[in-house]
Amino acid sequence: MSSHCYFPTESELALSGAAQAALHERATAATRNQFGKKVFVRAVVEVSNFCRENCHYCGMRRDNRNLARFRAKHEQIAELLIHHRPASVTDVNIQTGEDPVAVREVVLPLIETLRRETSLGISVCLGTLSPELYSELQNAGASIFIMKFESGDAVQYEQLEAPGTLAERLRHIRMLAENNWNVSSGFITGLPGQTPQDLLKNFECARELPLHGCSVSPFIPGEATPLAGNPTANADWTFNCVSALRLMRPDWIIPAVSAFNLAAQDGYRRGLRAGANLVTMNLTPTDVRGDYVIYKRDRFIMTEERVLNAVSAEGLAPSKTGLAEFYRNKPLNGVATERNFATAVQM
Ligand code: SF4
Repeated sequence: MSSHCYFPTESELALSGAAQAALHERATAATRNQFGKKVFVRAVVEVSNFCRENCHYCGMRRDNRNLARFRAKHEQIAELLIHHRPASVTDVNIQTGEDPVAVREVVLPLIETLRRETSLGISVCLGTLSPELYSELQNAGASIFIMKFESGDAVQYEQLEAPGTLAERLRHIRMLAENNWNVSSGFITGLPGQTPQDLLKNFECARELPLHGCSVSPFIPGEATPLAGNPTANADWTFNCVSALRLMRPDWIIPAVSAFNLAAQDGYRRGLRAGANLVTMNLTPTDVRGDYVIYKRDRFIMTEERVLNAVSAEGLAPSKTGLAEFYRNKPLNGVATERNFATAVQM
């Protein structure tokens, strides 16, 4: 398929000015061609900030002893999602640090309740777990697993103390896909010392994986991390990566991540212009949200209002079709069929 022949060059990832604008316009056109003017709307709830891992780029790493750790009550989150979710939300992403206890005590009962009481599509982002837990989560009703590979460079991955090894992480991604999960992955741009040539390794990695989506997260130096004091990711490179990902895989779901706003003024909207087609509203209860510190305490929280404003300011509208529903009809790494396309963009 010709649409799958694109692969970015080093210089494309470093573009700025008019040439960059042209790259982003091509990516926007590819997004519209595939998804129309609709973007998927997902809620995220962060239900535990305990983490057994020690990633250098994350404030929730186990060595951060100054963080108040919490596990939410599944009843509280269920109540929130069943009775108080914004009308535009079709899907929910349940997120934790790597905390198998929370998976058992909070995530599984929450999924069971949501499956019984709502038609929400259910994504999970819970880290590397056992095959048994993956299958319990799937049986409970989750269908999308988010597992980021973070860096496509095995040496850098190890230096950053990212979970396990890169090979192991990729093995889990493949295992999930083989077991009928829709898997979305992701990588970080602008890690200290990273060059555009290094960024290409992320594309090489993503290209080989059985994914339905991929995120691009700008590096934000977290206060309580070994990488504090390093510069924030280059915003141009970050958005160029979004566009390059869109051109490489026109049919993937690419989220606008809230950290875009920490990397650039109006970053969220720039992300939507660069090729993102999924927005996320943070519904984590405010009493615990402050302790879910991926970067720093003053996170840029994407509330319902901020998300919907950004979407409409870009001339876009929330998709009535949910993400999980869209995936159910979609071939892996394929171009959406006429039927899927119609489903995805219906009013
Ligand atoms: S990135 Fe995830 S696995 Fe790594 S320390 Fe943070 S919460 Fe834990």
